[in-house]
Amino acid sequence: MSSKRDYYEILGVGRQAAQDEIRSAYRRLAKQLHPDVNKEDGAEDKFKEVSEAYAILSDEQKRAAYDRYGHAGVSGANAPDFSGFGVEDIFESIFGGFGTRTSNRRSPRRGADLRYDLTISFEESINGADKEVQITRHEPCPTCRGSGAEPGTTPVRCATCNGSGEVRQVRQTFLGSMVNVTTCPTCQGKGETIATPCHTCHGRTQVRQTRKLSVNIPPGVDSGTQVRLSGEGEPGQNGGPNGNLYVALAVAPHKFFRRQGDDIVLEVAVNLAQAALGTDVTVPTVNGTEKIKIPAGTQPGTTFHLRGKGAPHLQRNGRGDMFVLVTVATPTNLTNEQKKLLKDLAKSLPADAIPQERGLIDRIREVLVGN
Ligand code: ZN
Repeated sequence: MSSKRDYYEILGVGRQAAQDEIRSAYRRLAKQLHPDVNKEDGAEDKFKEVSEAYAILSDEQKRAAYDRYGHAGVSGANAPDFSGFGVEDIFESIFGGFGTRTSNRRSPRRGADLRYDLTISFEESINGADKEVQITRHEPCPTCRGSGAEPGTTPVRCATCNGSGEVRQVRQTFLGSMVNVTTCPTCQGKGETIATPCHTCHGRTQVRQTRKLSVNIPPGVDSGTQVRLSGEGEPGQNGGPNGNLYVALAVAPHKFFRRQGDDIVLEVAVNLAQAALGTDVTVPTVNGTEKIKIPAGTQPGTTFHLRGKGAPHLQRNGRGDMFVLVTVATPTNLTNEQKKLLKDLAKSLPADAIPQERGLIDRIREVLVGN
């Protein structure tokens, strides 16, 4: 702050200067220093310096604060900070839209991205797939090759802007004559106009095309995965690159398997006798079957961990694991003989319900939620 020059000194006016004196001092300096006029090194910085001084001293409240406290009185939120701005922006903020330059419409612009939502089966998400999607997008007109002019004719130089794409208007302001540059309204900045429009696109240079594209879905994708097809989006303009097509995947639920990250969870039910006596069961996996040994006395909610039998990791080697959650199916529709066997069994087993120490619910949650 201490290195800042005094605002009155910058504008070359006394501390008692009236508003119109401050304004005419700024007008004179801005005219000398405006980079459209002054090509010297450092002219732009000096221009910003005088503009800052003017922004403070032309505002009675800010000027009073500056008079009392110096630069500290107009720092912080009150401070005009022009450091990141160009001269045009300063004019915009002080004079309101004067002398601004519209962006050149002939500069290259990247095309827009497109999104396609695709639902795939659980099996396709595990094993990968080649799918076809149908999209509609703009493409350069095939008849005129994107020129907009009927084949055999060529676009002609715009008569309004003489091919520059810009229209310059000289305006008289209190800073003297200023040049206002805008995009040519006749050719929209292209610099040329079409005398004979292409009969296919009517001069628009683009047509809407429906395309079928094949999408390679890698193994291991999940709902929310996006597959990018580079350059398959909307076309770029003025030589800019095309946008991309993003295929956003949703995986349909599977009848048996549940996905949890790259792990797969499967619930299997064994009967009362199998749980009590133990057995070998064959369970489906995402890539075949696997044999599991259910030991005698297996409780409902016991899980078996099959390493490497889950979903493939996306973009790296290896696979997740599989968790087999065992439940015990209570038999129904018993024959008389089965009923008798169970009644005999019941006589020899404890009869009371026994509260459990949060065993089953915790085990199931551990598998399904992972905590
Ligand atoms: Zn055309």
